[in-house]
Amino acid sequence: MKLSDFYYYDKEKIIEVIQKQNPKTILIQLPEGLKHFFPSLLKEIREIIPERINVVLDGSPTWGSCLIDLDITSEFDLVLHFGHIEYPYWRTPPNVVLVDLKSKNAVTEKTIKRLVQYLKSRSFSKVGVYGTAQHDVKPIANYLSNNGMEVLNNLGLSTVLGCWYSDLERIKGEIDAVIMVSGGFFHSLGAGLLLNGQTPVINLDPYTDSFRDVTSDILRLIKVRYFKIYEAAGKQNWVIIAGKAGQYRPHIITNLKRLLIDKGKNYYEVRTAYLSSESISNIDNGDAEVFVITSCPRLPIDNFNDYFKPVLTPGEARMALTSPAGRYIFPW
Ligand code: SF4
Repeated sequence: MKLSDFYYYDKEKIIEVIQKQNPKTILIQLPEGLKHFFPSLLKEIREIIPERINVVLDGSPTWGSCLIDLDITSEFDLVLHFGHIEYPYWRTPPNVVLVDLKSKNAVTEKTIKRLVQYLKSRSFSKVGVYGTAQHDVKPIANYLSNNGMEVLNNLGLSTVLGCWYSDLERIKGEIDAVIMVSGGFFHSLGAGLLLNGQTPVINLDPYTDSFRDVTSDILRLIKVRYFKIYEAAGKQNWVIIAGKAGQYRPHIITNLKRLLIDKGKNYYEVRTAYLSSESISNIDNGDAEVFVITSCPRLPIDNFNDYFKPVLTPGEARMALTSPAGRYIFPW
């Protein structure tokens, strides 16, 4: 199986950039879950790039264009980073070229028709339609518009990241529901957290050609997060874990430190690119009671929700230190 069996990518763009930059070495970055396509991708791109160019796969995790390993990328003339849009809070290094991956899976008309029936059965008429970089939401939005729905979002800004939903923030008070076109729950959950579980979120999955209202899952998770926020509020010893590259957020760290000092808490700081439960245990001096991750705000929720000590996002840490019962804040 080849990457091109599942995704379209812009070969013309690759040829153009190689002709322009004439690299001797190329590093390929593929999203997690797609790295195993490298040998077949290499075979395909060998048809368009000369043998003399050394092409290597970046084996480190590539969750987004926010965390590009500057040490490795600086050793290559050109980096082809597949499948992510530019991270809005960080500029990728100049030798990194982003190459879109567009999924060949599309939602069928039958499923969208069923979705419209579902929306009408819930008396929803105003929606926002968003999706990940792999999916074109315009045909879906057009179908909804032609079948009695008002699509309120800017379709030119419909691509979301797990921590970035800027156009949704703009219209969040005006819509009855969000339609998230993506495989799996990850991006729907992010939208639901941003909306405090107050607006229904429907996941429309092109890979399974199905949709699911995931609002109750989101509300359940928010309850767990409140529990952790309350638990953290009473604790004295905190650890701030900062990230690297586009996940290094000095202003958030400064604000957090100020709050901790104001509240008379103890803290120490840690800097790391990647985190696992094992690495958190390793940096825990035994007295640490709360961890705040300022790198990727999805880590506390998606990876450390079951950790035995509270692991919070910056927004949750702010709540714990100011108003634990207040409105749920995601992500910062
Ligand atoms: S959710 Fe995490 S990995 Fe995704 S863009 Fe945000 S910081 Fe990067």
